[in-house]
Amino acid sequence: MPVETGSVAAIASLLDRGETSAVELARSFLDRIASDTLNAFIDVQPELTLEQAREADRRRAGGERGALLGVPIAHKDIFVTRGWRSTAGSKMLAGYVSPFDAAVVERLAAAGAVCLGKTNCDEFAMGSSNENSFFGPALNPWDRGAIAGGSSGGSAVAVASGLAPIATGTDTGGSVRQPAAMCGITGIKPTYGRVSRYGMIAFASSLDQGGAFGGSAADCAALLGAMAGFDPRDSTSVDRDPEDFARSLDAPLEGLRIGVPVEFFGEGLAPDVRAAIDAALAELEKLGARRVEVSLPRTELAIPAYYVIAPAEASSNLSRFDGVRYGLRAEHYDDLVDMYQRTRAEGFGAEVRRRILMGTYVLSHGYYDAYYLKAQKLRRLIAEDFARAFGEVDLIAGPVAPTVAWNIGERNDDPVRNYLADIFTLPASLAGLPGMSVPVGFGAQGRPVGMQLIGNYFAEARLLNVAHRFQSVSGWHAMRPDARGAAS
Ligand code: GLN
Repeated sequence: MPVETGSVAAIASLLDRGETSAVELARSFLDRIASDTLNAFIDVQPELTLEQAREADRRRAGGERGALLGVPIAHKDIFVTRGWRSTAGSKMLAGYVSPFDAAVVERLAAAGAVCLGKTNCDEFAMGSSNENSFFGPALNPWDRGAIAGGSSGGSAVAVASGLAPIATGTDTGGSVRQPAAMCGITGIKPTYGRVSRYGMIAFASSLDQGGAFGGSAADCAALLGAMAGFDPRDSTSVDRDPEDFARSLDAPLEGLRIGVPVEFFGEGLAPDVRAAIDAALAELEKLGARRVEVSLPRTELAIPAYYVIAPAEASSNLSRFDGVRYGLRAEHYDDLVDMYQRTRAEGFGAEVRRRILMGTYVLSHGYYDAYYLKAQKLRRLIAEDFARAFGEVDLIAGPVAPTVAWNIGERNDDPVRNYLADIFTLPASLAGLPGMSVPVGFGAQGRPVGMQLIGNYFAEARLLNVAHRFQSVSGWHAMRPDARGAAS
């Protein structure tokens, strides 16, 4: 009997009442994944999944209970996993199997979540459309001709199309929020340092942060609660007491001051996206929130700052892929240097090579001060903009991206156009602030629109509260492609 994709709480209660088992659930999702035509998954290992499901059933039979015990989950293929492939969407790691689990994978396995497989993503998480994956793009379930958003496209597609109830992602400059918006689901990127980066294949270490996808704010709260926590193996992990992110989901919004940055509503914002965000803000006002205009004057500078800092860090992080220790090694070469060169030329795709070149350039002698140091100064100013705004408001709301999902292939020969799509997500990433994407309707061609909520440091519970209250009066988050007949 097929099991409908339900919320995490609904699945857990079916399991609690013995109406289904983790094995039955896993089988049902694996069946759906087997007939997936959206290219959401890079690796599936049914035997490993079923073994984890049997273990969850054993734990339940022994009387153990837990929000995620027996609940299926998909992992972005940037978290290393023992058993499954760990590719980061790259040819460089296409055949790589990790000898250990990432902290996030470990924590979720300990919570009893059952791993369904590894999801498609842009190569080394570099991209906004999932088109930079060595395994081809994940397709948007609302419209197969549209990008899924990136870089965590496969995870967003999996949740949006019912291939997994929840999924992990990572967000360096928007990679959880943006695909969540484009696939019409809920996603959260927590404060930098909340989620351990141990075993998360590194892109830009000062920005990379694990995050959660789900069908609702409540599901994201449950998943984030299990993912987050101090880890001494990650030097930037924040040592704070564990938090129940769902503790204030129902808190009233009366008197909440929502900052609306003027810079997020300028000319670059498509009218369909603006209309959906405006309607959502009006809904939040009906719930008692107050709309306050704020200014984040350095918003524009986020793109140049990010596209110096992230490639700089990437060029350093990716130097480990040299054909010696792990991953691809070119078959034919003359000597050691030739082996390095051929391996890296064959193993990395165009966007990754572009970033390594940019990163090496901005870090090189003579350019370091002009580019890298200047970008770091801008980063500080961007964080100061937020600090000032949070003196006046409780959270900030705006669009996730300037447009709905664009067509696959449309921007392939223009990387800068791709970079511009990150304008609204990069500022919070550079400041290390938590951000969410909440579905608020549909724009051009029936493609989903996401509203971004940005909170102050460690204000995830507040963000989830606002999103949850919104979702209790609006049905957008619960809409799925089949219901609208848009998917084929
Ligand atoms: N689109 C941004 C980039 O290409 C962000 C990607 C991410 O968050 N991993 O770098």
